Amino acid sequence: MKRDYYEVLGVSRSASLDEIKKAYRKIAKENHPDVKPGDKEAEERFKEATEAYAVLSDPEKRAKYDQYGHAGVDFNGQGGFGGFGDFSDFADIGLGDIFEMFFGGGMGTGFRRQGPSRGADLRYDLTITLKEAAFGAKKEIEIPLTTTCQACGGSGAAPGTNPRTCSQCGGTGQIRTVQRTPFGQLATTRTCNVCNGEGTIISTPCSKCQGRGKVRERKRIQVNIPAGSEEGLSLRFSGKGEAGERGGPPGDLYVVLNIEPDDFFERRGNDIYCEIPITFVQAALGAEISVPTLHGEVKMQIPEGTQTSKVFRIKGKGVPYRRGGGCGDQHVRVIVVTPTKLTERQKELLREFGRITPADQQMGKKTFWDRLKENVKDAIG
Ligand SMILES: [Zn+2]
Ligand SMILES: [Zn+2]
Repeated sequence: MKRDYYEVLGVSRSASLDEIKKAYRKIAKENHPDVKPGDKEAEERFKEATEAYAVLSDPEKRAKYDQYGHAGVDFNGQGGFGGFGDFSDFADIGLGDIFEMFFGGGMGTGFRRQGPSRGADLRYDLTITLKEAAFGAKKEIEIPLTTTCQACGGSGAAPGTNPRTCSQCGGTGQIRTVQRTPFGQLATTRTCNVCNGEGTIISTPCSKCQGRGKVRERKRIQVNIPAGSEEGLSLRFSGKGEAGERGGPPGDLYVVLNIEPDDFFERRGNDIYCEIPITFVQAALGAEISVPTLHGEVKMQIPEGTQTSKVFRIKGKGVPYRRGGGCGDQHVRVIVVTPTKLTERQKELLREFGRITPADQQMGKKTFWDRLKENVKDAIG
C-alpha cells in the first residue's frame, strides 16, 4: 500500500510549493544514501520522498494526484508519466547535485575540469653599475623557478611510460550522469574522483619530479643590458617565467634594473654631473686639468680667473641615448680649494701678493651677488 504523498512529506494538502520544497529538502538531506550509507530504511524514505516531491512540486501532476490519488500519477502503470526508472539511480548523484537539480544553484559548483593556465610572471631585480647602464653589459643571472620537468617532458610519468587515459571519465576529467526523471532528462557533471579532473592517471611517476611534471631549479639566464639603460628599466624575457599548468604556456620573466649610485658621477637623464677640485693658483692663472668621464679621462681648459663653482660643459661625454644618436654631456663644477697648513715662506709670498694687489682686484670687482648670479646661470646651463 502506497503512503499518501502529503503524509510522506509531512505537509498539509494546502501546502504551498515552498513548504513542499522545504519539507522535501529536509527529508532528502537526512536520508540521502551519502549521509546514511547502507541504511535501507533511510534509502526507502529518500526514494519515497523524492517520488512525492516529483509529483507535488508539479502543479499539473499535483492536480491529478489530488483528483485521482496514486492512480492518476502511477509511476509503474500506464496512467502516469512512466519511465521514471529506478529511484536508486539517485543514489549515484551527490547530495549537492540533487539540490542543484531541484532547487537550482547554491550547493554544487566547480564541476568543470580546469583548463590549461599560464605560468606566473617573475620579477628579478638586477643591480648594475653606472658604467654598465651607460654602455651596456652582458650579465648572467640565476633565477629560482618552477620549470617543466625535462626528464618526463612535464607528463609526470616515468620516462618510457605514458600517463594512461582515465577509464572512469574517458579522459574528460568529468563524469556526466543523465537521469530520466519526472522533470525530464537531468544531466549532472562533476569532477572525476578517480583522476581528480586531470583526465589521465600516472601509474609510474617520474622519479625526478615525483609525478608533478614540474621541478624547482635555479636557471641561468643571459641578460643583455642595453647601452643607455635607465634606473627601473624592465627587460622582458618572454616565456622565461614559471611553467604553466596542464600544458599552459609559461609566464614571463622581468629583469628590473637598479643602478648603483656612483661615488664620483651623478646621472640626470643622459647627462653626467661631477665636481673637480682645483687649486687657487690654477683658478687664478688658468690651467689644463684632467677630468674623469665615463668615456675615460679628458683634458679640460680652465681659463684664467675662474671662480669656484663655475660649471663647464664637456659635450658628448655623458650617457649614450638608448635609441642611438650620441650621448648626453658631462657637467664639471670646479671647486677652488683654499690652501691650508702653509709654511712661513708660503705665507710670506701670499702676504706679498696681498700687499701689491688691491682688494677689489682680488675680488674681481664683482660683488657676492654678481658671482652668485653667474654661478646660477652656469648651473642652469
Ligand atoms: Zn618528471
Ligand atoms: Zn577521470
